[in-house]
Amino acid sequence: MVKICGIGAGYVGGPTMAVIALKCPSIEVAVVDISHSRISAWNSDKLPIYEPGLEEVVKQCRGKNLLFSTDVEKHISEADIIFVSVNTPTKSGGLGAGKAADLTYWESAARMVADVSKSNKIVVEKSTVPVRTAEAIEKILTHNSSKGVKFQILSNPEFLSEGTAIQDLIKPDRVLIGGRDGPEGQEAILKLKGIYDHWVPEDRIITTNLWSAELSKLADNAFLAQRISSINAMSALCEVTGAEVSQVSHALSKNTKIGPKFLNASVGFGGSCFQKDILNLVYICESNGLIEVANYWKQVIKVNDYQKSRFVNRVVSSMFNTVSGKKIAVLGFAFKKDTSDTRKTPAIDVCKGLLGDNACLSIYDPKVSEEQILKDLSLSSAATTTVKQVNIVRDAYEATKDAHGICILTEWDEFKTLDYQKVFDNMQKPAFVFDGRNILNVDKLREIGFIVYSIGRPLHQ
Ligand code: NAD
Repeated sequence: MVKICGIGAGYVGGPTMAVIALKCPSIEVAVVDISHSRISAWNSDKLPIYEPGLEEVVKQCRGKNLLFSTDVEKHISEADIIFVSVNTPTKSGGLGAGKAADLTYWESAARMVADVSKSNKIVVEKSTVPVRTAEAIEKILTHNSSKGVKFQILSNPEFLSEGTAIQDLIKPDRVLIGGRDGPEGQEAILKLKGIYDHWVPEDRIITTNLWSAELSKLADNAFLAQRISSINAMSALCEVTGAEVSQVSHALSKNTKIGPKFLNASVGFGGSCFQKDILNLVYICESNGLIEVANYWKQVIKVNDYQKSRFVNRVVSSMFNTVSGKKIAVLGFAFKKDTSDTRKTPAIDVCKGLLGDNACLSIYDPKVSEEQILKDLSLSSAATTTVKQVNIVRDAYEATKDAHGICILTEWDEFKTLDYQKVFDNMQKPAFVFDGRNILNVDKLREIGFIVYSIGRPLHQ
């Protein structure tokens, strides 16, 4: 029986390993992590991450061919194939600070694999890593070659999106596997492909060399983020010209060379990956003297930052140039709907911007905990009770009661169907709505009496 060990039980490691266990009942899958709290949550009824459909998959496989453990050494040593899905954040200090990927976690996982392995293994890069990371990993692993153990490294980047992770894993648009040229590398590719063959159609599995696979993942995120920044840049132009960004997006989407996806203007992109991976790309370009290429990608992040600050400025300027002491309801804090993840969510910058102008915030998100929001805003829980500048509340009606304005920062479906007449009746007047996700019906809200700002549409019409 093939044994798999997944190192890292996070947003990628947890769902990907769970789906492998689901689709391959004959394979034993052990997911290990150094975080005891994460592993005990995976073993409980309250999983550490929210993802539609995840709970059902875990419940179906846990205790059968899927287990979660902190015994990293044991499960590495028993495995034939090791998927490494540890975090690769942006380096905070030292060489490449603020841009390069921090491979500390990867290196320590690789050293652990090298130290405890007594049989040949395939080591799979699932994390997003800089191009040519496999070369460094090979060096770390082969320091063990005196024991005669052989390692093959494969790059198998993950393309799931949070919020649709299970669906993306069960029906992937592609699976990418990069390996070394030569018979051993090709054999390793075939072994990994053999796992995906259980449920992924042949024509969706792409095999490449290692470096193409590593770079394709960085390119993928850079292209997606660039599309968002492109439409957001257009939204700024719409606001000053009378064009409407939804109409521009619609027109663009009908061009078959462009297509409809990732053309929604918004308050900006968030999540743990886009900014980190573009910064990483920028660092790699700069390290190779490709300064103009680096500048090109840097601009995608600059436009994103500009979009968030433009939104805050629009809120303040619309509300008579001050939000000091005014209650603003913040609806949504996660970086997108259907996830509890707040990493790099635009809500952090928007809330901090509004707090900087002394607004009082009443924040509601259906899946993000109070503790997480306060941590993200660098506030202790005392701040909510003593200063009362930030309150985390249990529903949207409570958040909007007596508020002067509403900021929609996550596109949760429930915000589309609120009783906006009731919301309006309970707010201070004039009542403002700032739709940072363009999910609401502007005309209906105006009929009720709201002053509405949505992205890429002039305020006064
Ligand atoms: P995460 O922080 O949620 O999970 C990483 C986990 O690895 C943590 O639980 C951490 O405790 C564990 N870990 C770190 N070092 C370890 C070690 N030596 N041994 C065992 N466990 C260890 O991160 P994530 O969001 O799952 O992302 C993981 C990687 O996947 C990153 O490289 C990311 O860029 C990439 N990725 C993320 C997404 C996404 O949507 N989140 C999508 C595709 C790819």
